[in-house]
Amino acid sequence: MGSMILDDRDQRFVLNEMLEIEKLCESKPFADFSGDMFEMILNEAKKFAENRVFPTLVEGDRVGCRLENGQVHVPQCFAGPYKMFCEGGWNVMSFSPEDGGQGLPMVMRTAAHEWFGHNFSFMSYPGTGEGAAHLIAVYGTEAQKRKYMDKMVTGEWGGTMVLTEPGAGSDVGNLSTKAIRQPDGTFRLQGSKIFITAGDHDLVENIIHPVLARIEGDPAGTKGISIFLVPKYRVNEDGSLGERNDFEIAKIEEKLGIHGSSTCAMNFGDNGACYAELLGEERQGMKIMFQMMNEARLGVGLQGVSAAAIAYRHAVRYARDRLQGSSLMDFKNPEAPRVPIIQHADVRRMLLWMKANTESMRAMAYFSAYCFDKERMAKSDEDREKWIGYAEVLTPIVKAYCSDVAFRVTELAMQVYGGYGYCSEYPVEQFMRDEKIASIYEGANGIQAMDLVGRKLGMKKGGYFMSLLGEMNTAIAAYKDDPAVAGFAAEMQGAVNTLGEAAMYFAKCGKEGNFFVPLAHAYPFLMMMGKVVSGWLLFWGAGVASRKLDALCQAQGVDRADPAAWGKLLKQNEDAAFYAGKISGAKFFMKNVLPEVDAAVKAIKTGDLSVVEIAEESFGS
Ligand SMILES: Cc1cc2nc3c(=O)[nH]c(=O)nc-3n(C[C@H](O)[C@H](O)[C@H](O)COP(=O)(O)OP(=O)(O)OC[C@H]3O[C@@H](n4cnc5c(N)ncnc54)[C@H](O)[C@@H]3O)c2cc1C
Repeated sequence: MGSMILDDRDQRFVLNEMLEIEKLCESKPFADFSGDMFEMILNEAKKFAENRVFPTLVEGDRVGCRLENGQVHVPQCFAGPYKMFCEGGWNVMSFSPEDGGQGLPMVMRTAAHEWFGHNFSFMSYPGTGEGAAHLIAVYGTEAQKRKYMDKMVTGEWGGTMVLTEPGAGSDVGNLSTKAIRQPDGTFRLQGSKIFITAGDHDLVENIIHPVLARIEGDPAGTKGISIFLVPKYRVNEDGSLGERNDFEIAKIEEKLGIHGSSTCAMNFGDNGACYAELLGEERQGMKIMFQMMNEARLGVGLQGVSAAAIAYRHAVRYARDRLQGSSLMDFKNPEAPRVPIIQHADVRRMLLWMKANTESMRAMAYFSAYCFDKERMAKSDEDREKWIGYAEVLTPIVKAYCSDVAFRVTELAMQVYGGYGYCSEYPVEQFMRDEKIASIYEGANGIQAMDLVGRKLGMKKGGYFMSLLGEMNTAIAAYKDDPAVAGFAAEMQGAVNTLGEAAMYFAKCGKEGNFFVPLAHAYPFLMMMGKVVSGWLLFWGAGVASRKLDALCQAQGVDRADPAAWGKLLKQNEDAAFYAGKISGAKFFMKNVLPEVDAAVKAIKTGDLSVVEIAEESFGS
């Protein structure tokens, strides 16, 4: 029986059979690794997830966080796993060895973390620590690295990302927290922040907060923002902990989900003594924070993959066990035996939708991480530029598409469970509650869409986008004549062409100064493009699977065109059933989901501006 957390077979398929990650080990910087080591790491990740992370999911939700005497307490059940997580180095897998990490490829970190992401409350603590430590690794001085980063890498100290204020959510440039320069070169902060994940907790002895603020006298807007390191406890010269810094946790939020993750309102400098050190250069705060935000956006997309994966696994298991109704063949016979609901066409529709979408999102998240590894390995500027371009274009899609589609996967899982799914006896309702936040934080999905349409599509005069379309066309050309996928190659090619047309249409609107059209249609464009990217990855996977099936059939002397022999093979050979499932999932997606691309582009190309034109009063009071 497979894992209830995710489908390891599909994970290995994407890593080994599509991306062939073992080839990353052929040259620097990954030459010290091997495919066997990758396999061992993934097995350990699975063990840790099943034995330590998953068992705290429900309890973390039930117990939640509490604020007492200015200190946040998180579910006790997180303490042991947190310590083991950091001791195992799971928090710094892709950090360079000089910074205390293991130097593993990003794609490996992503795959390992897919095992943990279903418990996002738990993961919010090592996750924010990892991101903040990486900021210091890249932008900190040597002194800051030794003073702060070293203990964050070991997980002894935590970290956060502190941007949001009551008046500055999506509009970060509107922040009002100020930094007051001191004669010794340090600063004192004053201001209030809200919604800060892991803003305080009791898993660590100190927390280092990277905080966005404006130095007095600096210009308004994002250009005037700097970033500061603000320790919970000041750190003495010898590394020991000094006095408590001047900020307080004003409250923690009550939320729909991720109850085990503390979401804090923080008041800085009520006594004028909130110590802060500049990180990097003055007025470079947004650029620096963007490193963490981009990593976090991919992380939030991966949260979606994990949520979808666990929801799908539970739904399939339930659908196999739950008896209800009779077979269609026996529908007139009230005495007919009850059948598992997985036999009903409508339940299969839901499961196949969940399967295809979960697998395409997994491939999307892994491919995006793999781009960073390929960029590091690139031997020419042109090659490097290609991989940077893919990552740039895909980041907002991974964040927004995966979070929104994953939410729908979790919701469908609830539907498969029927009334039991709505009740808290089963964990599916928690999967849905926990996943909803992913479309809001790290830049709400509408903001991601504007980033894609307003910035990413036009980068290098559209070169990055065109290059990604080229990658899709290459996959289609490679497999379109394979008999198993030829039946849906035309749909895939059509969707890629349609996506290209929609982008050209936006470019034309831009040239004509008609900027409202791309803005008003940005989100539908992002979701449409997410479907095309998904289709491409599923098509590629189906092509690979078909060739593997050919080899398998040849080895076993089975004719794929002979229904009896083929049916027997699928029953007896897990690999054959898996590969056939990849082809079925791709076909389903091409025939049932990709047509939505045409509809979306048709709507986009009307250039309709209803959303802009409707008078505000007409929305009703
Ligand atoms: C549980 C949780 C954890 C969080 N963790 C952190 C954290 O660790 N650190 C941190 O700094 N923040 C954190 N946040 C804050 C989060 O990033 C913000 O909530 C998010 O960026 C949206 O800001 P907002 O809530 O002010 O919504 P608003 O900015 O008010 O947005 C409301 C709606 O309007 C839309 N909108 C806003 N402006 C525009 C525009 N110009 N064009 C089009 N649409 C627009 C948005 O897309 C959204 O749908 C967290 C929030 C929550 C709920």
